[in-house]
This record gives sequence, structure tokens and C-alpha cells, in this order.
Amino acid sequence: MNVELLFDDFDRKHLWHPYTSAVEPLPTYKVKRAEGCMITLADGTELVDGMSSWWCAVHGYNRSELNRAIENQLKDMAHVMFGGLTHEPAIALGKRLLRIAPPSMRHIFYADSGSVAVEVALKMAVQYQYAAGHPEKTNFVTIRSGYHGDTWNAMSVCDPVTGMHSLFGSALPVRWFAPAPESRFGGEWDERDILPLRAIMEQHHEELAGLILEPIVQGAGGMRFYHPQYLREAEKLCREYGVLLLFDEIATGFGRTGKLFAWEHAEVNPDIMCIGKALTGGYMTFSAVLANAKVAEGISSCEPRVFMHGPTFMGNPLACSVACASIDLLLSYGWQEKVSRIEAQLRRELEPARTLPQVKDVRVLGAIGVIETRREVDMARMQRRFVEEGIWVRPFGRLVYIMPPFVIRPEELAKLTSGLVKIVSEMK
Ligand code: PMP
Repeated sequence: MNVELLFDDFDRKHLWHPYTSAVEPLPTYKVKRAEGCMITLADGTELVDGMSSWWCAVHGYNRSELNRAIENQLKDMAHVMFGGLTHEPAIALGKRLLRIAPPSMRHIFYADSGSVAVEVALKMAVQYQYAAGHPEKTNFVTIRSGYHGDTWNAMSVCDPVTGMHSLFGSALPVRWFAPAPESRFGGEWDERDILPLRAIMEQHHEELAGLILEPIVQGAGGMRFYHPQYLREAEKLCREYGVLLLFDEIATGFGRTGKLFAWEHAEVNPDIMCIGKALTGGYMTFSAVLANAKVAEGISSCEPRVFMHGPTFMGNPLACSVACASIDLLLSYGWQEKVSRIEAQLRRELEPARTLPQVKDVRVLGAIGVIETRREVDMARMQRRFVEEGIWVRPFGRLVYIMPPFVIRPEELAKLTSGLVKIVSEMK
């Protein structure tokens, strides 16, 4: 491995990378290109991608179908404002989204990133309650171990400890947190799980605009998979107490959990739903907030009658075009069969890790495989070992996990799982 080529001095001195020091950063590996499920580093080292670039690149990298969508769109326009103008890519994407979204969804608000989608969803809920004659309903309830993004209000509904933003605690709006459900996906439902949320709703519904959740899979706040009954019970509480139900499907959307969207595991229709990440097949930042007729008509029924949000790059044509191509590709190649094959292989090949003394739990759902260790991992060391093994995996805290592109071949996935088990077993 040629370290000179891998670690760039300018990058190290001047470019801020996520979750590492600006002045003494952990190593960041320079990438030359990425194709299919392989990431090629600047010195030619090839790594099998286990991360789909944080849940996004579900079709792998450098897909000709997606490249072509952007190239074709560029011939017409890269961008026009969405205020007072519209265009075919936005319309075509909207039609596709309504075909695959929960049946209750009617109205689509395009936004820039996952975090912005969460901001938009929270604002929608507050504005809906205002229009419905409840200006006092401005707060939110959520569950522990959640993660909803890095912007201000998104941070406020992340887990205050594991959600990565504890430092900002005193500066953030104070939300209500119920414990995360203990009933696991695929296990027994324990009806006591819903009681803390019921208690919060009973006591505080007069101030609550909405309940926001990542349905079924809690991602960056803990990689937990919980029981669908929790969503059904939560929905009942929301209806009972006039609280909107918001689903953050930014990580779970587009097949990752074995369903096209995770709400399908419970058949619970939210009032508002956020999608992002894999929406563009990992090509560019983009998101959408979907709302039911109740929310959209409610907001439109009362002065100012418009939703008070309008980002500059709303409905960006390049993003809409590549999102259309990504959805078409996903629906064309039997994603469900691919994800269940990945799930079966992950279950089989990660299972040996369960007996390791370093390991607390092994869990798999859809194309997500998680090894939870007993102690925090040494990220820099582990990362280097993964690279030496020819795989790209980025652990955090006590979570060593993979969520590969759906198009990964069995032998590539085997390289990932065997590398994962081997390197976890090396932990002191
Ligand atoms: N919600 C969830 C569930 C996420 O996993 C993330 C990103 N990890 C976000 C919101 C924020 O998305 P973005 O990073 O695109 O702002």
C-alpha cells in the first residue's frame, strides 16, 4: 500500500472530514474511482464496498443508467428555480413516488438533504397544528436511540446521548423522549413497550405537534430493529391525541429493510414521510417530504395558506432525473430477491461472530448486518485493518455494520463478512 498516494497532505491540513479532528484528523483514504461494488484507492488498492456510502449507493457506483440520466438532463438544463416554474423531471419523479409511497400520501415537497427533509417535516407538523386551531402544539415526541440528521431541529429529536449531538443539548429545543422499544423485530411483542409513549402522550399531548420515528430500523443512533407492533400502537396513540405521525424513511427507504419502505412491515400510514439518501441512487444530495391530504389541506386552509419553506435548489432537475432513473432501475432488477439473498448470506456468515467474547449481539435485517461489540471500537485501527483486508467498512461506537449495494455478488459479500468477523475477533 502506497501511503504517499493514499493520504493527501492538503486534505489533512485543510479539509474538515466528518467526526474527526480538523487539526489531528484520523486518516482519510483517497479514492480514485468507484465502479460496481468496488472502491479503488489512489494507489490502486481495491476495496469491496460494505457501506453503500452511508445507505445511498444501492445500485453500486458508476451505473451507466444513472450516468445517462444526468448527462441527458444536462443537455436541457442543470437547474431552474421551482418558484413559479416546473419541469418534466420533477413531475415524472412525483408520479413515481406516489406509486410507491404509502397510499395516504398525496403531496410532495422536494428538499435538499435528509436533515433538511426532517426540518421541513417538523415545520409542516407545526404549521398544520397552527392551521387546525392548535398554535400551542409545537413540540415533538420521539424515542431514544433515534437519529434524524445534523441540522438544529433534526438534532433535537436525535437520541440525546447516542445521537452524536449531546454537546448541543442545552442549545436545542427540549423534546420528549420515550425509551426505544425493547421488543425486537421478529421476536415477541411485549405490550409494556408502548406504555412510556402512552404516558407522554397522555400528559403532554396539548403541546405535541407530532411523533417522529425511524420505522423498524433505527440507524445511526444504535442500529436497532424493533417490532412492527410498536408502530401500530404508536399510530393509535397519535390518532387518539391529535398528534401527527412522522416517519423518517431516509435510511430505511428503497428496499434496504426487505420492503420497499419500512412502514410496509407494519402497514401503518404516516401523515408525513421523509425520504432521501438512496432516492438518487447515491448520485447527489436530494430528499422529499411526502404528506397526506389532511396535512396539505390543513396547512392550505388557514392564513398564510402556504407552507413557509422554499429552498433555492428545490426540485433540482438533475437530482429529479437521476432519482427517476434510480427508481426505474430498482424496480426493474428484482431488488427484493437480491435483498433476501443478501439477508440470508449475512445471517449465515455473520453468525459465527456471536460466539466471540468481544461480541454482544449480531443482528440482520434485509441488506443490513450488524455486529454489536461489548466495548467501543478503535475506529482508526479497525479502519486500517479493513483496508488491509480489501474491504470498506466504517464502524462507530460499538457498532460494526455493513449495508452493501444490492448488486453485490455473493463472493464480494463473503469477502466483507469474513473480513468483518476476522477483524472483530482481533479486538482486544
Ligand atoms: N434521518 C436518518 C434516519 C438518517 O440516517 C440521516 C443520515 N444519516 C438523516 C436523517 C440525515 O440525512 P442527511 O445526512 O442527508 O442530512
